[in-house]
Amino acid sequence: MKNKLFLLVFCCLLALSCKDDRPLHPTPPGGTGTTTHTSVPAGITYQLNVYSFADSDGDGWGDFKGIIQHLDYLEALGVSAIWLSPVQECMSYHGYDVTDYSALNHRFGSEDDFKNLIDQAGAKGIDIYMDYVLNHSGSENPWFRAAVSDPNSPYRSYYVLSEDPSADVAAGKIDNYGGGTDKGMGDWHPVPGGGERLHFSLDWNNKTVTVTTTDAAVSTNSGASIWLYYGDGQLAGFKEISGGIYEVTVDFTSSWGFLIRTSASSWEDGTKWGGNGSALTLGTPYPINNTTAADIKVPVSSLQYFASFSGSMPDLNYGPYASAGSSEAFKALFASAIKWIDMGVNGFRLDAVQWIYQNQPKANVAFLKQWYDNCNFAYKARGGSGDFFMVGECLADVSVVTPYFEGLPSMFDFSYWWMLKDRIGKNRGDDFASTLAGFRNGFKAKRSGYIDAIKLSNHDETRAAEDLDRNLDKEKLAAAVLLTSPGKPFIYQGEELGYWGRQTGGDEYVRTPIKWTKSGQVPLAALSGKVDLSMLSPSISVEAQDADEASLLNLYRAFAAVRNAHPALLEGEMTAVASSTASVAIWRMSGGGETLLVLHNFSSSTVVAGNYTTVEQIISNGSVTTEGKKITLGPWSSVVYKI
Ligand code: MG
Repeated sequence: MKNKLFLLVFCCLLALSCKDDRPLHPTPPGGTGTTTHTSVPAGITYQLNVYSFADSDGDGWGDFKGIIQHLDYLEALGVSAIWLSPVQECMSYHGYDVTDYSALNHRFGSEDDFKNLIDQAGAKGIDIYMDYVLNHSGSENPWFRAAVSDPNSPYRSYYVLSEDPSADVAAGKIDNYGGGTDKGMGDWHPVPGGGERLHFSLDWNNKTVTVTTTDAAVSTNSGASIWLYYGDGQLAGFKEISGGIYEVTVDFTSSWGFLIRTSASSWEDGTKWGGNGSALTLGTPYPINNTTAADIKVPVSSLQYFASFSGSMPDLNYGPYASAGSSEAFKALFASAIKWIDMGVNGFRLDAVQWIYQNQPKANVAFLKQWYDNCNFAYKARGGSGDFFMVGECLADVSVVTPYFEGLPSMFDFSYWWMLKDRIGKNRGDDFASTLAGFRNGFKAKRSGYIDAIKLSNHDETRAAEDLDRNLDKEKLAAAVLLTSPGKPFIYQGEELGYWGRQTGGDEYVRTPIKWTKSGQVPLAALSGKVDLSMLSPSISVEAQDADEASLLNLYRAFAAVRNAHPALLEGEMTAVASSTASVAIWRMSGGGETLLVLHNFSSSTVVAGNYTTVEQIISNGSVTTEGKKITLGPWSSVVYKI
């Protein structure tokens, strides 16, 4: 009995220790391509939109070879990592609606091209981070199509599905809500026609339509005179089979039902044919009219799915958060992750981590910890250098972001830029360092080795230069602040050239292609004409800014070089210094046996910053004079001293 009890206790301890130490999905060491250069965890990262960065083959789409051709540019900018916009096969130009997590977007090149990019970047000490979209897939992903069209599909568990969402939420059956009942910003969507293929037979003599499910091939008529109108503005032409009898067969995707139109281009009186509001029964002729013409609902399924963003991005379902790693969706996503880690990818940027479990930090953190631990274990098992890098996106205030450091080594610090632009706008620098130190103390309380991913704007935000009134002096100041701050700076494609743009009219306006030469073409195909070509003047090009010593690009290069040469800046800790001048931000950076003093003037006035004992000026921007201990800062200027 005693021995049995001992054995039981021993087994429990063993089980507990296994649970704590070992990932759920250990994978054998191996892999072919893990890079061997030493990563710089806090090094500068370049955020790159693959579709609009550089086009090697002239098809109008940026591509992997285009990035390879411009690695020298990125090296000169001092970056030690590149975050690529999503590169997996997808539905849209931006890629946040993945249809195959294990395949590359065919427009960007082959797996060999991608591998070459990883290897050639690695040879320059530059890591490659992939954008990994875990919250949702694209609605055209075969997993989703199978899940909603077949009740017995093994992919049914991959998505958040319900016949009666309100009852299931109230009963706590929707794991995606993370134990809460708040759906956050998402919504339930009717499964498009139950994913059914439907045959429509129109009797134009008797003005009836008969709808049936079918396994026959899709059949439409491009030269039609009568159309089926359904879903999100879709038109499918009827084909006349015999006198007055028309037919069409479609994969029916519509949340509202269908109508019949006799004009493809307008809703003139009488061209819209619908029902009288009564229910349609499959297989029974249904009378249509062109006076009341009510939407005709098709009773194929009451199944609904949940999507945090749009209906084209159904949320993935990882089951109860504590055991998310055991879910089929997790295992499938992880299997794809292994493929890319094997190929030599050094990190992931995780999209929309706040919405994996609807704005429930505890659930999201539990999930992210499982995801990170599994990826990091696999990376190390393949001989990866240091830890696998992973940064999460939670597009929210610092108070919302902070708890996520318990799940991931790095999080984007959106408040950093929001605070910086606010202070520059108010000509107030004296509380910048202490406020930032406060953010960092919060992060540190959640994770000792936290990496504060600081940035100006990104692909989802109004451009930094726009927020800085397209004022070059302010843009240089913001760049100098970013590159002298503690943390891991991210530079967003075009920011180093002073690109401006707002999302008014489309996100594309903040995702503009790089203009490499004064007169050359830029990759425009992805952006649907939503490009401010007046901004892309010869003078904003890389070629022009290369040649101009006073350009924003050269300022970025100079401050990046100083950051990379000084461990106090690259990986040091910040101490806020009290500033007696309202517009001046002051802090010390200490690390690697040195201490630097950093000063920035957030105003258009020349000010005396105060008296400081300095040893040597490392770099400055704008007008800075040092007379003994007295430091005078001109408009929007910056300076770094060794002390
Ligand atoms: Mg191309």
